[in-house]
Amino acid sequence: MALEKYNKKRKFRETSEPEGKISKKSGNRFVIQKHNASHLHYDFRLELDGVLKSWAVPKNLSKTKNQKRLAVQTEDHPVDYIDFQGEIPEGNYGAGTVEIYDKGKFELIDRSDKKIIFNLKGDKFRGEYVLINFRDKNWLIFMR
Ligand code: MN
Repeated sequence: MALEKYNKKRKFRETSEPEGKISKKSGNRFVIQKHNASHLHYDFRLELDGVLKSWAVPKNLSKTKNQKRLAVQTEDHPVDYIDFQGEIPEGNYGAGTVEIYDKGKFELIDRSDKKIIFNLKGDKFRGEYVLINFRDKNWLIFMR
């Protein structure tokens, strides 16, 4: 999938979002971006495979153990997106405001096609979380 979808959706002459390039460096950062677009949601992104694997989480992650939240996988984002905040102008994909809600590092505990387990070390979110794919792009995220 790489970043073709990401690049296709955006007009870089209009938006200040970074252009999509695969990173050769491997890292272990995460970010949660509060995205006030047509619907307010939280974008949860994990640095994996040289990109940010991304999910839109309408109700944000929960800090209550086993409280499951829907997380809809979206297109991979470039690693540089981890620092993005600001305004996406009207008429552009995701138009609205983006603000960094939490960021930090994570420790990968286990990963398969349908399940990712990791320990979040952010300012707001800390602890062991699980992402489980249950249908198509639909995942659940919860603290365990
Ligand atoms: Mn979003």
